[in-house]
Amino acid sequence: MNAFSRRGACPALSKPMQTGDGLLVRLNPVAGGLSPKSLIGLGESALRHGNGIMEVTARGSLQIRGLTPESARRLAGEVDALGIAVRTGVPVEIGPLAGIDPQEVADPRPLAESVRAAVDQAGLAQRLGPKVSVIVEGGGQLAMDAVTADVRLKAVRAENEVLWRVSVAGDDRRAKRLAAVDGDAARDIAVAALRMVAEKGRAAHTRDLSERQLNSLASWYSVTPPSVLPDISPARGEIGSSAAGAPLSTENDATFVIGETTDDKAISPLAGEMSGRTEGGAKERPPIRDPIGMFDLTAGHALGIGLPYGSMPAQKLIELTQRALALGATEIRLAPGRAIFFLGLSPAACPPLQHTATTLGFVTNPTDPRTRIAACPGTPACASGQIATRDIAETIAVENADILDASLTLHISGCAKGCAHPGKASLTLVGGENGAGLVVDATAKALPAGYRPGYDAARGVSGVAAAIRKERLRGETAAACLARLGAAGIAEAYRQE
Ligand code: SF4
Repeated sequence: MNAFSRRGACPALSKPMQTGDGLLVRLNPVAGGLSPKSLIGLGESALRHGNGIMEVTARGSLQIRGLTPESARRLAGEVDALGIAVRTGVPVEIGPLAGIDPQEVADPRPLAESVRAAVDQAGLAQRLGPKVSVIVEGGGQLAMDAVTADVRLKAVRAENEVLWRVSVAGDDRRAKRLAAVDGDAARDIAVAALRMVAEKGRAAHTRDLSERQLNSLASWYSVTPPSVLPDISPARGEIGSSAAGAPLSTENDATFVIGETTDDKAISPLAGEMSGRTEGGAKERPPIRDPIGMFDLTAGHALGIGLPYGSMPAQKLIELTQRALALGATEIRLAPGRAIFFLGLSPAACPPLQHTATTLGFVTNPTDPRTRIAACPGTPACASGQIATRDIAETIAVENADILDASLTLHISGCAKGCAHPGKASLTLVGGENGAGLVVDATAKALPAGYRPGYDAARGVSGVAAAIRKERLRGETAAACLARLGAAGIAEAYRQE
């Protein structure tokens, strides 16, 4: 480990990233899960070598913060000693319940393994940027729809067979859909798309592919055997196939079209990262089912527990895991949506573990208002922070939970960088020289409509909440009410409380 990565690179164990509170590393166990003892060991390492804060990101990666160059080296040694193999190369991600979810359309693990092998064989890991990723999703109880990726392969039922829907550049809703094909063809299209990206350079993503290239990918699948998968010429950047075929429709999805879908500013508690940047530059949407609560598995049950704002003191994670171990948990998997799954539990073991988690301050209810707020570490954790984001968020969650309905996106940002939610939010509190600015329907980088002292920001939001309660029409959402109030009215309510 000779050099630490610049901001924007992937902060793997071997390449920690500089943040406002020291170096940060991000870990993804190759095996997908961790034993409870391994997670306890990792927590102890985080206490010994970092600042004692552990995080689970919107994509379900584990992060340890507050490291120094020397302590990061020691941490890497301890991860090795714990026997935790961490992912390297191009991320080919599967859901946390892959292979154990009885509602899956198909087990995505064999295809994911096949894609990994093909990407390795093609030598793409060195040619692609660190944020290029692939998702292979089998469907089921916990969708990966909210997680963005360069290539998405999703199992869909089509009459009597299972096909893999191939799409590129985005989350499930925004990604450009190319085709529905069998597993081998899906793998080959995925690798072909990544080759095209590699030809464009390490900063490129599939969103940079031309319409012609996308059409080439979409029409190639039907007859080109894998053995003749062409290399992509830098000059052409196209797949040299003469095959023409229309993308397929399936019973699950009849909209295989190439083109942008509409954008929105959906939250947010799942968006962005705690690391001072967004993993994958992603705008995230909540999964179809929150990863919080009990899930029936092929064998046994899993209990999903969330980390508020994706962050928890390592000591509390250790205590929760010790309790889970005592209750029979055999494995822990990290989940998109800033959660962890405890596997191997009996139905009777779930309530007491949930109780312990609630007592320790974890999120155990999907309607917890904290899941509606995106908040970066802010001050004092981040050197760039100008407001105490997490304290403000906690106060708002306690005092104004009733206005935090699904329509409203609330982002609390320590500075204008907006790490926790790069996109627009209905309301953004942003720290700056003038205190806590309130931005309406824009990003943290926009000019605030009003200011309050940073320590008093939560009271200003109480003023906005009071205005919503007073003005809201029957059946109207909080966001619709805010739209009626307008930026000037909202700013006045924020300033005057
Ligand atoms: S938004 Fe600013 S304060 Fe918050 S984590 Fe990013 S750099 Fe730090």
